[in-house]
Amino acid sequence: VEETLVLIKPDGVVRNLTGEILRRIEAKGYKLVDIKLVEADRGRLGTHYEEHAGKPFYEPLLEFMESGPSVAIRVAGNRVIEGFRVLAGTTDPTTAAAGTIRGDLGRDWGLAVQQNLVHGSDSPESAERELALWFD
Ligand code: ATP
Repeated sequence: VEETLVLIKPDGVVRNLTGEILRRIEAKGYKLVDIKLVEADRGRLGTHYEEHAGKPFYEPLLEFMESGPSVAIRVAGNRVIEGFRVLAGTTDPTTAAAGTIRGDLGRDWGLAVQQNLVHGSDSPESAERELALWFD
């Protein structure tokens, strides 16, 4: 069975959406294998987002991710990597489809693309790397 790393980012935690997001993952039939609240440090976040290093949104993104706890979840299921990304919706919540986590719960605060509630691994290689990074 495939596994992916899901993060409920600090905006999701601070807005008390943890339960709602977990509910959607479970309702889809995916299994929660491990879960924890994490205050990520810069080292871990720098590694997590290394593909974006140097982009204009990189520093603000790291600051946002350091602004409060995230929930890290190891999620298992058939084709869960792709399936969770469909559940999450496209990156920008303003245009993410209704029915998705970002489309239903995200909103444009001027930082909508940054504060988009969740992260999900985008490939089997990313999932392996990210699960090792967040769950040692
Ligand atoms: P994720 O990898 O977090 O599931 P994603 O694959 O939809 O999201 P990426 O392009 O990998 O998006 O970007 C990673 C994260 O960086 C986004 O989830 C968002 O928080 C932030 N981000 C991406 N593009 C921008 C942007 N133009 N402005 C601000 N933040 C951005």
